[in-house]
Amino acid sequence: MSIRCLIGSIFLVLLLPLSLSAADELDERIDTLYDEELRELFLWLHQNPELSHMEHKTSARLASELESFGYDVHTGIGGTGIVALLENGEGPLVMFRADMDGLPVEEKSGLPYASKAKQVDWDGNEVFVMHACGHDVHVTSLVGTARIMAERRDLWQGTLMLIGQPAEERVGGARLMREDNIWGRFGQPDYAMALHVTSSVPTGMLIADPAPYSGADTVDILIKGVGAHGASPHSGVDPVLLGSQIVVALQSVVSRNLPPRRPGVITVGSFHSGTKHNIISDAAKLQITVRSESAADRALLLDGIRRVAENTGRMMGLSGDMLPEVIVYENEGVPPTLNDIAMLERVRGVWTNTLGEGIFYNEQRLAMGAEDFPFFTVDPYIPSVYFAVGGTDQADFDRAAAGGPAVASHHSPLFKIEPEPSVELSIKASVTGLTDLLQSP
Ligand SMILES: [Zn+2]
Repeated sequence: MSIRCLIGSIFLVLLLPLSLSAADELDERIDTLYDEELRELFLWLHQNPELSHMEHKTSARLASELESFGYDVHTGIGGTGIVALLENGEGPLVMFRADMDGLPVEEKSGLPYASKAKQVDWDGNEVFVMHACGHDVHVTSLVGTARIMAERRDLWQGTLMLIGQPAEERVGGARLMREDNIWGRFGQPDYAMALHVTSSVPTGMLIADPAPYSGADTVDILIKGVGAHGASPHSGVDPVLLGSQIVVALQSVVSRNLPPRRPGVITVGSFHSGTKHNIISDAAKLQITVRSESAADRALLLDGIRRVAENTGRMMGLSGDMLPEVIVYENEGVPPTLNDIAMLERVRGVWTNTLGEGIFYNEQRLAMGAEDFPFFTVDPYIPSVYFAVGGTDQADFDRAAAGGPAVASHHSPLFKIEPEPSVELSIKASVTGLTDLLQSP
């Protein structure tokens, strides 16, 4: 054993009990903070949910909390967004983001503190609003993390940048904040982090995997036909039949073109055509969501959609200028959320040391949800870790497995989260991760 190794092991032996007691101390502090302040804050957020781009009360409350801990708070960024800075000497700039918006859903969770809030939506209709995705947990956790990072300034160096983001649900908030030049105004982070609470994972567990969310694209197919009487199909080109063949043929793009061990989804969510039983319409419109996890797979799926749409049109006898038109809405797409592998290993190592080996929930992700967090991290590239925190009591999963009520998914009126364990683990994972990243080089 070299001298360096020997010194290393002595250091490790000295460090181990220390880091354990530091972890206990952090646990206790988070417990007290939850009881004294965060429980009330969570209830307030849960009962005052606001729609995307309209998070005025939420943003004002978050700003005043962060200001009271000594952060330099900038408001009105990208709409209702917040950037809060805590400078603490030379060192890296590390960003942590929480999204703030609720959803137009009427809460039917049966919880004593269920939301009864209503708000006038973007179309002028009054709708019920609910934190049906758990963003109230995210904001509460961000406040707890902010407070504890401010109290433990002796343990880290650099600048902490906390972001309260609007409109994640409409995948517009992160982009708007970037368009407001946040990196130019406040500095470009060396690292970025974010979390999502999830009802499909038991409380007390974390997921920190290489690809937490997929990329999403919004696509329309505009189909032209030739209108005719329903009794004279031979004199028209039927866009309903053409659209139906496109819907069916699209299923072959994922199953026959994408390599079978790479994930992808093409879902036709809407198909509209026609006005009446006996009229062959002259147009149809398909609305499609496309999910992928790399630029190459995204291109493969989008090319496949174009190929299928145009050639099905040809098959039906349409001329070149009449072929179905595929529109990819570049402004409504998001890249996949991909964690930086080196940073992920570093942060997972910290969590293994402070929270224990068993903290990670290892079941494979089955769906292809998307997030707008990559707008902060893709261009320019910023190493990032996006992790998930379990939000449902294990007893609820056991009851569901025994034939009881299913655990409600996100965006459902029945959605609920166990706030205390979710917020507490979110803060603990955030504080330990940030403290490790915020060290002088
Ligand atoms: Zn969400």
